Amino acid sequence: APAAVELPFQAEVQQVLALVINSLYTNQEVFLRELISNASDALDKARFLALTRSDAAEQQGEPGITITLDDTARTLTIEDNGVGMTRDEVVQNLGTIAKSGTLEFLKANAEASKKKDDGSKLQLIGQFGVGFYAAFMVASRVDVHTRSMLPGAEPVLWRSAGAGTFSLAAGDREHPGTRIVLHLKEEAKEYTKAWRVKEIIRKYSDFVHFPIKLNDELANRSTALWTLPKSQVTEEQHAELFHHVTSGYLGEKPLHHVHIAVDAPVQFYALLYIPEKAPPDMFQKDRQGIRLYAKRVLIMEDCDKLAPLYLRFLRGVVDSEDLSLNVSREILQESRTLSQIEQQITRQVLRALKDLAESDPEKYQAFWKEFGKVLKEGVSLDWKNKDQIAELCRFETLKGEAGKLTSLRQYVDAMPEDQKEIYYITGLGRAAVERSPHLEAFRKRGYDVLFMTEPVDEWLVKSLDEFDKRRLKSVTHGDVDLGESTEEKKTDEAAVDAAIKAVKEALGDRVKEVRASRRLTDSASCLVSAEGDPGANFERILKMMDQA
Ligand code: ADP
Ligand code: MG
Repeated sequence: APAAVELPFQAEVQQVLALVINSLYTNQEVFLRELISNASDALDKARFLALTRSDAAEQQGEPGITITLDDTARTLTIEDNGVGMTRDEVVQNLGTIAKSGTLEFLKANAEASKKKDDGSKLQLIGQFGVGFYAAFMVASRVDVHTRSMLPGAEPVLWRSAGAGTFSLAAGDREHPGTRIVLHLKEEAKEYTKAWRVKEIIRKYSDFVHFPIKLNDELANRSTALWTLPKSQVTEEQHAELFHHVTSGYLGEKPLHHVHIAVDAPVQFYALLYIPEKAPPDMFQKDRQGIRLYAKRVLIMEDCDKLAPLYLRFLRGVVDSEDLSLNVSREILQESRTLSQIEQQITRQVLRALKDLAESDPEKYQAFWKEFGKVLKEGVSLDWKNKDQIAELCRFETLKGEAGKLTSLRQYVDAMPEDQKEIYYITGLGRAAVERSPHLEAFRKRGYDVLFMTEPVDEWLVKSLDEFDKRRLKSVTHGDVDLGESTEEKKTDEAAVDAAIKAVKEALGDRVKEVRASRRLTDSASCLVSAEGDPGANFERILKMMDQA
């Protein structure tokens, strides 16, 4: 065989290599994700080539990826029977970087990554055409044995220690495909352990759609449920995926799922689960549970850009093809892509909840009991979808017995003809608000009153001025107008004036105003808030927050 030739890496590759090895990835184990992704790409390309070129060499065996570990030799070998590379392609793909803009981006990010180590941005770097070099984080030498499917292609052996040069020699592969041997560094010998390698495959590459065999056993699941037609996914499969994405901490099966497939403007799949029980950390707002995949490969475990805060009870998977393509150019485009995905998810989840409320009120009630508090935040956080979220809200009311929930729509539909506004009362719990003297007149008139008994309700009513063109009014506010009622007409004006005067003198400037009201029937007096004042309960909550 002809002697190997020694070639220098393109200058930029040397810089990228240094960046990759030293600072690009916070998580060394992603080297395997990168190599598996490349193998999967090669298998995809082979499939395509077999269909489009009759002169392509034939693939040997079933398409797949094989990983073998050797403890003694301290090697990890990954092999695919995909498209392979010609000699020129090897030089081109493993020795040069085509886009110089990529390097600048890498530099910018490597700088940023030194400052904060959350790693969220860097996880995406594998999409930038540098994934292969991740092998040098764990290997002191890498051998690539490859042979292209293209007619007349000779086998090639590429070899490098990742320091400045690589060598090229004739290889000995008989069939198309690529075998990459990593000679692991001493400190990376954990990657010869099957349990460790399996763990990594499970984490990042479980849904790569070619079989990955580890020491002759199947190590991945292959079927990305979210890419299947909705009707084909069984309840058992949902339960299994739910279990997988929640690590088994949130019960055996989900309460409900939302399966989304969108092609434009951004292609993505989403399979999102609503757990039966709220996770214990649901009120920690930084904890989100949606995984981001790019073409079936895990990119980020808890991505907080895929759904708004008030939908943080969702657990599951988002997978987009457009992500990687855009990411390879500009980070700005990428965040636009994510926000488009977020908007779609928001819309579709809200619609799914509406459907659920209509088709299965009992299940919806179970959902509401666990997650209503969180969803309600949306009324103040998302003015664009405020009305839809308001439709989804449920409250106890004056007329309904404890535990019976009413929607705003039901409230409005049941309003007597002479009632013009929607009335609510805020307070800490049903027992507390039920006793309020403010309710007397409403009881008497047969008007229902919404009980807003959770702290979040204070924010809700601040953001929701009206529903179905009817104003929301607190029963404690000064200008609630219940009109005249015959019985009350025969009050003695002079006696009332005298009483008001006496009370004013007694209370002094502790109150803004004392006035006669028609809202009470049994009680002698009550406190009301002036229009625009926060209201007594809200004042209490603000005080509590101040003390915290
Ligand atoms: P990216 O995958 O983002 O293009 P990589 O650095 O991971 O960047 O890989 C560089 C290129 O090397 C790939 O685009 C591909 O052309 C080639 N390559 C890598 N691994 C393989 C493989 N197993 N089979 C065929 N070609 C490969
Ligand atoms: Mg790659």
